[in-house]
Amino acid sequence: GYHRVLEENRKLYNQVQDLKGNIRVYCRVRPFIGRQSNFTSTVDSIEEGTISINTPSKYGKGRRSFNFNKVFGPSATQGEVFEDTRPLIRSVLDGYNVCIFAYGQTGSGKTHTMTGPKDLTEDNQGVNYRALNDLFFLAEQRKGTLQYDVSVQMIEIYNEQVRDLLSTDGSTKRLEIRNNSQNGFNVPEASLMRVSSTYDVIDLMALGHKNRVVGATALNDRSSRSHSCLTVHVQGRDLTSGAVLRGCMHLVDLAGSERVDKSEVTGDRLKEAQHINRSLSALGDVISSLAQKNAHVPYRNSKLTQLLQDSLGGQAKTLMFVHISPELDAVGETLSTLKFAERVASVELGAARVNKDSSDVKDLKEQIANLKAALARKE
Ligand code: ADP
Ligand code: MG
Repeated sequence: GYHRVLEENRKLYNQVQDLKGNIRVYCRVRPFIGRQSNFTSTVDSIEEGTISINTPSKYGKGRRSFNFNKVFGPSATQGEVFEDTRPLIRSVLDGYNVCIFAYGQTGSGKTHTMTGPKDLTEDNQGVNYRALNDLFFLAEQRKGTLQYDVSVQMIEIYNEQVRDLLSTDGSTKRLEIRNNSQNGFNVPEASLMRVSSTYDVIDLMALGHKNRVVGATALNDRSSRSHSCLTVHVQGRDLTSGAVLRGCMHLVDLAGSERVDKSEVTGDRLKEAQHINRSLSALGDVISSLAQKNAHVPYRNSKLTQLLQDSLGGQAKTLMFVHISPELDAVGETLSTLKFAERVASVELGAARVNKDSSDVKDLKEQIANLKAALARKE
């Protein structure tokens, strides 16, 4: 009766709210590592969504605070960080496009958050593994009504070239990005692998890692200077109506955001630095252009923004983890990272859209109106 109507009204209202503000920014502070444990951190305080940094005199001595949707301190566990990511994973199964990316200077913990440390255990696995596990678990729960297929692609963008990380023959040909926005198959030539269990995922991640290492030389750890992207495609078929829902999730470990001093590097290193600067600033430009609701959004200025186009527009849900290092000598990069992130956090996009015609916001709003009318009649 009355209570049920109230409850449903609240549920629908939450659903509509959930569709709003679909860029979220979480900040994560890396702990000191190794022998640094008693160093002084640049982080003055963390409270809910606010982080305050002590700035040395070079940056105008004082304290500077930044607000985000959430701030994770150095003692936050992988599990805790993932807990707040979970609702997004669920929405992939509901047919949304989702993009989760890790931003920050080299060494700030991006790979730790997305993949985990080298000695991987069930406890310290990063978002990539946990997200796929959740997908399998939720798909299993719904299997009476929906039949889900999950497949993945893994690519790397290095010097504005896209490379397949799941090729089994070690081929390194350059791949094209095509914007095919409906279903997220933006790199159609990249290997597409069907996955149905945690074991499949572990095997594929190992293959991806191996292929990534092949591209690096002994003196050149390329992983911090390329963007890597694990794309998960989900297709759900309604067993009664036959209707198909498609969701897609990009999990992106970005290249290090540190500015390279142009006077100190030359040759390949300079070229890499320029490509990274350009693609990360293209990302910033896309986001601020979305924030200003410009008619033209410059997605085409970099491979990264082309790849993420469907996940950064008003139709998708985006989560950015910004990482900072606590060391004093990193404070310059820390401040520029936080300023970049603050710009991203201020974006409020339109409602996210399900890749299916029926249940959109208009529908929900109508249902709310109907329920409100029903409530009014009861009173
Ligand atoms: P990035 O990918 O940004 O270059 P990494 O993820 O490789 O940085 O992190 C640098 C080092 O710090 C690694 O040894 C990593 O295991 C460690 N590390 C990063 N974040 C954490 C954390 N939250 N807890 C413990 N160790 C961490
Ligand atoms: Mg890394």
